[in-house]
Amino acid sequence: MKPVITNFSRSALKGELATLGLKSFAATQVLQWLYQKRATSFEEMTNLSAENRQKLAEHFQIASTKVLDIKNSSDGTCLFLFELADGKKIEAVYIPAESGRKTICLSTQVGCAMDCTFCRTGQMGLLRNLTQGEILEQVLAVQNCFPEETITNLVFMGMGEPMANIPALVSSLEILQDQKLFNFSRRKITVSTAGLVPKMFEFVKQSNVHLAISLHAPNNALRDQLMPINKRYPLEQLMEFCRLHSKGPRNRVTFEYVMLKKVNDSLELCKELVQLLAGIPSKVNLIPFNPFPTVDYQPSDNNTIKQWVDILYHAGIQTNVRANRGRDILAACGQLAA
Ligand code: SF4
Repeated sequence: MKPVITNFSRSALKGELATLGLKSFAATQVLQWLYQKRATSFEEMTNLSAENRQKLAEHFQIASTKVLDIKNSSDGTCLFLFELADGKKIEAVYIPAESGRKTICLSTQVGCAMDCTFCRTGQMGLLRNLTQGEILEQVLAVQNCFPEETITNLVFMGMGEPMANIPALVSSLEILQDQKLFNFSRRKITVSTAGLVPKMFEFVKQSNVHLAISLHAPNNALRDQLMPINKRYPLEQLMEFCRLHSKGPRNRVTFEYVMLKKVNDSLELCKELVQLLAGIPSKVNLIPFNPFPTVDYQPSDNNTIKQWVDILYHAGIQTNVRANRGRDILAACGQLAA
């Protein structure tokens, strides 16, 4: 099988094209065709000679993923189902908001090994990591489906634990942030993690994008139950990372907290959360649970969520309640399972 061109970094592509006799600037031309002009064939790359286009087509595949299905939610959210070259399937979600923000939620793995009890992806187990190309092609597919729209934000909160796939994550971020290619600013990209602490230290040395921590419980006993990763890297280690990371410039930490009725939503737990976050410049996103058929959890009621917002607000913690987008097509947070 021919190598897939979306799997190459800029420098690796330069080297590969040199072996085919192409000049070094050809790599930039090819990457701009792919990621700026969204070419879907080498034939379209008309500032390369016909001979070079022929060589490219002989040596590379232009893509490795196929869009199998697009489901539209009544709220404008779109769920994209992709088939990968080995037949495995992943999902990505396009989320337009009234504010004008247009976000893509991206997957980094097929399935996930973290086994969070409230997450549909976790029930699949981990099948494999995605490649750089498979991550970038999710962005391209959504952009191609909405050519008139400008994607403003990227969140790595789809299928998989991004910190378990750092090489492909970091190399795709380089292309996504490249000013001559996708040109997403660091402030518009958020990577979410369940708390693979050693990998988080590794990641922040290699990337400057925003990190969001999936917290979901303010103490180890409850977090152990909801997120088995907590048994390996308990809250003491996770919060130590957050304390150190938040000392950097503009490094306020975002915490995600899924609101599960009568599980993690008591007001005592909210006060415990306030204590846990003391001294860490934080923002909390409360996420009303999005039900799916194979779990018994229920979303917290609105009044409870409102009380949480009040307590956190009075403690000086910036707090948002995440809108439930795409629930009707199983495209909301924690519902992806391809
Ligand atoms: S919540 Fe995230 S880390 Fe946890 S199982 Fe689901 S995809 Fe994996």
